Amino acid sequence: MDRQAGTRADRDGRMATPIQNLGVYGKNRLWMKREDLLPFSFGGNKARKAGLFFREIREGGYDCVVTYGTSSSNHCRVVSNLCASRGLPCFIISPAEKSGQTFNRIMMELFQAKVTRAPVAEVHDVIEKKLEELRLAGYKPYFIEGGGHGNLGTEAYVQCFREIECFEEVRGIHFDSIFLASGTGTTQAGLVCGNLLSQGSRRVVGISIARKNPRGRDVVVDSVRSYLSAIGWDVPEPVVKDAVVFVDDYTGGGYGSGMEGVKDAVSDVVRMVLRVYGIPLDGTYTGKAFYGMTDYMKRMDIRDEDVLFLHTGGTPLFFDGLSEM
Ligand SMILES: *Cc1c(COP(=O)(O)O)cnc(C)c1O
Repeated sequence: MDRQAGTRADRDGRMATPIQNLGVYGKNRLWMKREDLLPFSFGGNKARKAGLFFREIREGGYDCVVTYGTSSSNHCRVVSNLCASRGLPCFIISPAEKSGQTFNRIMMELFQAKVTRAPVAEVHDVIEKKLEELRLAGYKPYFIEGGGHGNLGTEAYVQCFREIECFEEVRGIHFDSIFLASGTGTTQAGLVCGNLLSQGSRRVVGISIARKNPRGRDVVVDSVRSYLSAIGWDVPEPVVKDAVVFVDDYTGGGYGSGMEGVKDAVSDVVRMVLRVYGIPLDGTYTGKAFYGMTDYMKRMDIRDEDVLFLHTGGTPLFFDGLSEM
């Protein structure tokens, strides 16, 4: 394990997450950045994003939080955990979908998040109503988009990209490709922005876990543009479009446990990665992304590269799926 890059802290005292060398994988060398090891609430990309939201909450004097997500949402678990640790009431608007018990939901209950269920079509109105109601009651509510989507979420992964560059510098290597699970696309947008800002030549490949193209790619492109324009950077449209690789061949049934078509392949990969590397992946996000990466590298005949897989977390979902394996 690398000592210098693995333990370097930023100005706020935060440590970089480790990047592990997993050795030869197929025709390439595989590395993994362990965002799942971020040290709060089982980590993951939602923990990194939430760190920035909660700084704003503290600095802005907000006294409660409203957000959106399903019962299996890693985002809602992390946000409700942070609220509980700071003594802030947490309100979650959740689509009224059928879904079983999940460890994330059990933890949200443990953190006493107040969940309001609403049909998907009414979610927007229900959120507005909740915010209004809280303001009338004298609160100063802070709203976080589902999944931590938005420029601040993107910023979190620009910072993560800097950690990756820093690691490369210290170790004298260069990642040719970075693969990750892409949902709302904010995490991917952050890495793409980081890469553009440093004029990097890395290929950032988002493996879609639910959305189909062209919408899936468009959302990532919009997030990239929105962030760059907010920081006053003018990058030509074709450059942005070129930089966003969004692969929608491995979505299966999308969010939740439905994985028609890719289920067996994903389960095999999850079992293999646990057995060989001792690293947990889940069937909704990281397992799909790892399987997608493996297949994509074969299909595109990628070889002799240093490939980085960003482990975006979701450890409670690993346990949800464990007994089925
Ligand atoms: C939310 C999530 C993602 C997707 O992140 P986006 O920024 O929404 O694309 C990937 N992996 C895990 C484990 C997640 O919880």
